[in-house]
Amino acid sequence: MNDNLLSALATRPLICDGAMGTQLLASGLASGECGMLWNADRADSVRAVHQAYRQAGCNLITTNTFEGSSFALARHHLDERMAELNGAGARNAREIAGDSAWVLGDVGPFGDFLEPLGDMTADELFAIFRAQITALMEGGADAVLVETMSDPAEVAVAVAAAKAVGSIPVIATYAYQKTGPAEYRTMMGTSVDEAVAQAVAAGADIVGANCGTGLAFPDYLELARQMVRAAGKTPVILQPNAGAPQVIGGQTVYCATPEEIAGIVQPLLEAGVRIIGGCCGTSPAHLAAMSRALTA
Ligand SMILES: [Zn+2]
Repeated sequence: MNDNLLSALATRPLICDGAMGTQLLASGLASGECGMLWNADRADSVRAVHQAYRQAGCNLITTNTFEGSSFALARHHLDERMAELNGAGARNAREIAGDSAWVLGDVGPFGDFLEPLGDMTADELFAIFRAQITALMEGGADAVLVETMSDPAEVAVAVAAAKAVGSIPVIATYAYQKTGPAEYRTMMGTSVDEAVAQAVAAGADIVGANCGTGLAFPDYLELARQMVRAAGKTPVILQPNAGAPQVIGGQTVYCATPEEIAGIVQPLLEAGVRIIGGCCGTSPAHLAAMSRALTA
């Protein structure tokens, strides 16, 4: 995409896409199977999800590479295919986005703890993220989305790795849980102010939240206000789940309708959020309704 994401964002709010995993499960991915394999083996199915989000009006298309670090892929014994599967993921998204939408190279948590809680050193993790992001950029990503993070130190390593690969816009989002009235913290116990401040200090160009535990729509709105306040001039992104989760038949499901989630789009914009997308439980139908609400 020739347009610069950050300058476009300065002129208008944008819509990011929604969940990928649930869409692939609906296409026949077995639970426990590595969805990233489909970037190579079932590319048509992955591209169909991207296409549905593009048609829903999403301006930002996220690669199917959440588990794409070699450390995370090793759990599926796929670490040796790290570059191939990330590159294929970026090319699938690029093919659908063309020159009319931005491709976000998705980078999820590596899946363990940095020192001193875990064994991973910052230098080792930097090399792991840099290799993944290099493959994403070579496949045609426009920007990097570091998402669902809990540890600001991991965010800092991922952002630094992206900036080492090139002059790339980097988005960094945390998953928060509610820890008190109007109080939200990451799983590591980090407050909103601290999490945002550390992401901005690390060089993230856009900061925010995605997913979350037990958050209902009023929580997302309050969280958005707190993030906007903490972020200052840095644009804020929010990708909520489709409402608070409910456990039905032993499974966690998100039940908000497209109309319900679309109802928070204007309040989020008024709170100062500049990019709105979806996380768990959101579908192309949810994003289409949100896109209509954004332009209404
Ligand atoms: Zn989620």
